Amino acid sequence: MDSVLEQLKNGVLRFRKDVYPEQADFFAQAASEPQRPHTLFITCADSRIDPNLITQTNPGEVFVTRNIGNMVPAYGEMLGGVSAVIEYAVSALEVRHIVVCGHSDCGAMKALLAPGSTDKLPAVSNWLVNAQAALAVAESLHEKDPSRPVLDVLTEQNVLLQMQHLKTHPSVAGAMAHGNLTLSGWIYAIGSGHVCVAEDGQRSFQAI
Ligand SMILES: [Zn+2]
Repeated sequence: MDSVLEQLKNGVLRFRKDVYPEQADFFAQAASEPQRPHTLFITCADSRIDPNLITQTNPGEVFVTRNIGNMVPAYGEMLGGVSAVIEYAVSALEVRHIVVCGHSDCGAMKALLAPGSTDKLPAVSNWLVNAQAALAVAESLHEKDPSRPVLDVLTEQNVLLQMQHLKTHPSVAGAMAHGNLTLSGWIYAIGSGHVCVAEDGQRSFQAI
């Protein structure tokens, strides 16, 4: 008996029994029409983040892609899953906003600060290259002002860097030029539930 699978199956049964009946009309409606999400939400794969929970959105509102460290390879660097999600969300689904959401206690950011810690994880090491420029900026900022933990500075700089990478994607650049798309960077503090936001063009994060 696989106890984890049993746990997951029991969750599905509870969903079917307790949650679905209360929203059956909503799900029937959602199934009968194409999805029209207003937002593409790019965040870390960390299991402690729940995009729908923290934004209080329903199924159908937020198109989500997650990866280690909420990264967006610059266009052409790694044409793969993330690039395809961005292109589809912007050009086909016509989302009006993209959030890049980093978070406290991020394992990817901690790994960047501990060179060698991912030596036995070659795929992870390779992926973290997408944040190398953020590491350089964070170390420089931290040297000038050591009052803030370097991990916090790096987490912010990574979100700002990935927002820059987003703009190298033709679909994003085109939609922004038309005035149809805006970007923001978020930092979610898991322990307190606080979210700080940097709107496009801002270099610092403000609490909501
Ligand atoms: Zn993370």
